[in-house]
Amino acid sequence: PIRTRFAPSPTGFLHIGGARTALFCWLAARATGGQFVLRIEDTDRQRSTAESVQAILDGMAWLGLDADEGPFYQSERMDRYREVVDRLLDNGQAYRCYCSKERLEKLREQAMDAGEKPRYDGHCRNLEQAPEGVEPVIRFRNPLEGSVAFDDRVRGRIEVSNAELDDLVIMRADGSPTYNFAVVIDDLDMNINLVIRGDDHINNTPRQINIYRALDVEPPEFGHVPMILGDDGARLSKRHGAVSVMSYREQGYLPDAMINYLARLGWSHGDQEIFSREELIELFDIADVNHKASRFDTAKLNWLNQHYLREGNHDEVHSELVWHFQHAGLHTENGPSLADLVAVQAERVETLVELVERSRPFYEDFSEYEHTAAKKHLRPVAGEPLENLRNRLAGLAHWRVDDLQAAVQATVDELEIGFGKIGMPLRVALMGHGESPAIDKTLWLMGRERTLARIDRALA
Ligand code: GLU
Repeated sequence: PIRTRFAPSPTGFLHIGGARTALFCWLAARATGGQFVLRIEDTDRQRSTAESVQAILDGMAWLGLDADEGPFYQSERMDRYREVVDRLLDNGQAYRCYCSKERLEKLREQAMDAGEKPRYDGHCRNLEQAPEGVEPVIRFRNPLEGSVAFDDRVRGRIEVSNAELDDLVIMRADGSPTYNFAVVIDDLDMNINLVIRGDDHINNTPRQINIYRALDVEPPEFGHVPMILGDDGARLSKRHGAVSVMSYREQGYLPDAMINYLARLGWSHGDQEIFSREELIELFDIADVNHKASRFDTAKLNWLNQHYLREGNHDEVHSELVWHFQHAGLHTENGPSLADLVAVQAERVETLVELVERSRPFYEDFSEYEHTAAKKHLRPVAGEPLENLRNRLAGLAHWRVDDLQAAVQATVDELEIGFGKIGMPLRVALMGHGESPAIDKTLWLMGRERTLARIDRALA
């Protein structure tokens, strides 16, 4: 079974790329009956915040990506990193480096001028005498010869010559571990056997493998997933609008739609588009992840969201809708049941925000009619049809869609008018504007009391 981990740095929200990585990790673990571990990489005390940790946990909870273990915090494991660093120092696999910032800066400039990749030159590798009064950093003694190779589960074989790697800092002068070091110790201690992460880390992997080797242990397997591009082909960023997962909630997307969408962003199974979580768990294999970057496609997300609004899990639709009603300041008890509302409205909208906005008049009074709609449909033309219909509606024994349809039809027949001559005025009377679901369903949702009151108001 696969043991994966998601290891975000808490320096912002859970963004779309991170969420997809977390999903792939979760799926890989679930698909094999393994475990999914959550680890918060908060060694950078300057940039890590408690709010960000919370935002990441909230985002994962909303998506339903439950961890089997964790969250673990790197900041609570400092003693362990120190212990391993001491061991590496004792074996000579790491060394203290006293080079000043100025010296390192100069090396970098020289390399740049020569058109080369900046590398540490190993100045302190075999230092006889430590300079006084300088707090050293600790560097890993990277092998000088040979190469590092691994079979990436997404990208295939990757091989890098050690000559291209330099002696990486593993612990800063203040005693804090660097990412490349802490990640190895953690993945090792947490028995991770498959690391799934963004391919922005692919250059770190050979360095990490060298550390595993120095510790005389087998590295885990790796799968580097490609980045996500915006619809314009540039790397997805704030510029493209929402990138945090929770902002998708605010825009009215459902967790199941997001999961389905994110899974398909870089992974496929034939030409199938709709996948339940169970199906994803059954079918997902990290080896099937595309090694090319994928483009964010809002139209497709909207299409999936509408699918889940209509045919998805009722409990999820219901609880998300309640959240949106609260957000919009509407009280669900002041109108039709949410199940009835969804039954009518879901096919007309792509998001829950749209659904709520189009449903306001069913739950609260509007203060004004939309000017042009009222002028065109309400006065002075609509008095007779509205009054005729009102009397029928008031006398109806049952407030059912069929009966409502029949009542409208009877008015049309009796007055020998086109359907629009009653449909449009009624819409404006009930909704305040000319837009609504089919008229019988609109009446049904509106309920008798509110319908009659609004017709009276329009007639007044
Ligand atoms: N903390 C790293 C990041 O957020 C994790 C990289 C990894 O998964 O190894 O990019």
